[in-house]
Amino acid sequence: MRTDITKITEKTSHTGLTEGMHVYNAGTSRMFNTGEWRNNTPVYQEDKCKHCFLCAPVCPDSSIMVKDGKLLGIDLDHCKGCGICAEVCPFDAITMKEGIE
Ligand code: SF4
Ligand code: SF4
Repeated sequence: MRTDITKITEKTSHTGLTEGMHVYNAGTSRMFNTGEWRNNTPVYQEDKCKHCFLCAPVCPDSSIMVKDGKLLGIDLDHCKGCGICAEVCPFDAITMKEGIE
């Protein structure tokens, strides 16, 4: 079944869903809140952040929010809690907390 994700609603039956792991319409990945199945949560501490942006390119889910040369925080709707950002941050501005927030 190749259903356009933009046409899926709460009323769509299971036969009308897309297969798992497939996205059948371009530009729709933002509609999947992959953060719902996160196990761990990155905690961002703005006071420690030097805005070096080492963390942003390594995030596999583009969940590090950057605007106008500043790190704004972490998009927990899409973050999967892998912890890579916390590993690469040289200033301990991101730490991982067990569980979902
Ligand atoms: S790596 Fe650390 S210090 Fe650098 S922008 Fe990311 S959170 Fe801030
Ligand atoms: S924990 Fe992983 S997915 Fe979440 S912001 Fe950090 S690098 Fe991205």
